[in-house]
Amino acid sequence: MAIKIFIPTPLRPFTDRQDTVEVDGSTVGEVLGNLTARYGQIKQHLYAEDGSFRSYVNIYVNDEDIRYLEKDKTAVRGTDTVSIIPSIAGGVDVDVQDVASEVQLSNDEVLRYSRHLIIPEVGMEGQKKLKAGKVLMIGAGGLGSPLGMYLAAAGVGKLGIVDFDVVDKTNLQRQIMHSTVDIGRSKLDSARETLEGINPHIVIETYETRLLSENALDLFAGYDVIVDGTDNFPTRYLVNDACVLLGKPNVYGSILRFDGQVSVFDAKRGPCYRCLYPAPPPPGLVPSCAEGGVLGVLPGIIGTLQALEVIKLLLGEGEPLIGRLVLFDALKFKFREMKLRKDPDCPICGDDPSIHALIDYEQFCGIVKPAPASEKVDENTEITVEQLKLRLDRGDDLFILDVREPREYEIVNLGAPLIPLSELAKRYGELDPSKEIVVHCKMGGRSAKAATFLRQHGFKKVKNLLGGIDAWVEKVDPGLPRY
Ligand code: ZN
Repeated sequence: MAIKIFIPTPLRPFTDRQDTVEVDGSTVGEVLGNLTARYGQIKQHLYAEDGSFRSYVNIYVNDEDIRYLEKDKTAVRGTDTVSIIPSIAGGVDVDVQDVASEVQLSNDEVLRYSRHLIIPEVGMEGQKKLKAGKVLMIGAGGLGSPLGMYLAAAGVGKLGIVDFDVVDKTNLQRQIMHSTVDIGRSKLDSARETLEGINPHIVIETYETRLLSENALDLFAGYDVIVDGTDNFPTRYLVNDACVLLGKPNVYGSILRFDGQVSVFDAKRGPCYRCLYPAPPPPGLVPSCAEGGVLGVLPGIIGTLQALEVIKLLLGEGEPLIGRLVLFDALKFKFREMKLRKDPDCPICGDDPSIHALIDYEQFCGIVKPAPASEKVDENTEITVEQLKLRLDRGDDLFILDVREPREYEIVNLGAPLIPLSELAKRYGELDPSKEIVVHCKMGGRSAKAATFLRQHGFKKVKNLLGGIDAWVEKVDPGLPRY
C-alpha cells in the first residue's frame, strides 16, 4: 500500500527536491526502509551507525508523535501521512496579574490602545497586564524585527533585547526593524530607535552581549516571558535550559528557506525543546540561513506568530501553543499542527533530570571553536586566496572546483566547474585524482568538508580555499559582487 511521506526541506536534496514521496509499506519501519532503499543518502540522516534512530529527528503519523510506540512496528494505512520532522538552525498566568493591578494608563495611552480596550478579552485589565509585562527577546534580527515592533506597538511595558551584531546590508531583505541608514550601526541602537519611535510609553533594555551560560540566568530572571529568535543550536538549547531551570515560558520560532516552526515551551505545563529534540544535529548537517537562504517575508510571519503567543501569555487569554508544534510551508501555504508530548526521560524537565545547571552548549552541539586568525595555514590541505592568486598568475596547473549551489554560482563565480557538495558523493568520479585540486565554497566551510571527502576517496592533492569566494572578492577581486 502506498503511503505518503512528508520530506522536510533539509532532506529534499536527497529526494530529487520532492517534498512528498510515496512508498509502499504497512508499518512505519517498512515505509522508512523502502524510502532509504530508494534514496540511499537519506539513511545516514535518519539512522545512527548502530542502526538506532537519530534523536534529532522525529517521526509523526498524521499529527501524532510515535516515538513512544514501537516505531518500526506502528501500522500505517493508505490515508496516513508519515512526516519526518528534524530540528531546524519558540491562557497561562505568567505572574503579571498582581503587578497589573497597580499599573495605571494615562489618557494618552488609553487613546493609543483604544482598539485593544474595546475587545472583551483585552479591555482595561488586559492592557494593564501588557503594561506590567516584561519580555526578553533573544536576537534583534529577522524574527526579532516583527516581534519587537508588534510587542512595542501593543504596549508591552518592558522589552529586553539581547544582541551583539551590527546591521549588515544582507540583513535588510528581512530585518525590517533596521533601515539602510543603519548599516554599520549596532542592531541594539537601531532597534531601540525604531521601537521608541513606535511607542514612547515603553521601557527598552538592551544587552550588547552574546547569550552565554554565564549570563543567561541573570538576564532571564528579570523577565516574565523569553522569546527565542536565534539562528543557532547552541543558543536554542541554552535558552531552553535556562527557561526550564527558572520555570519561564520560552516562545520558540525558527525559519529556513520557506519553512517555519513555532511553539511555546513551558516545562511547568508541557514539553520543553529537549523533549522534542534531545540532541542537536551534527554541525553542518542543517544549513544556516546564511548558507541555505530564507525568504524575506517568512521571519515576518513566524516572528508575528511569536508576538501573538507572547501577548496571549501575558493576557492569560486563549489557548497557548503549549504542547503543539506548528509547521508552516510558505511555498504550499500550508500550516500543519503536531502534538508534542512531555518526555518523562527528558534530561532537564523529565522525572529524574540529569541536568541541574547550564552547561557548555557549543561543546554539546559539537562545535569546534575556530582557530585564531594567527594560526598557520596547513600548506598540505589549505591555501589562502593570496597564495591562489600568486599560483594562478604563475601559470601553475591547478584545477579549481566550486562546491556551492547553482544559485550561488549564478550570483558570482570564478569560472570553475561546479559540483554542489550535496552531489559530490555521486559525482566525484568526474574529477581527475592526479590533478592538484583547490576546492572553494562561499566562506570555506562546505569546501573543507568536500576536501576531506575527496582525500578519503583517493585524491592526494586537495586544498581548501580559506575564506572561500567571499575572501577572494574581498582581497583579490573587489569588482565582483558579494552576497
Ligand atoms: Zn523536556
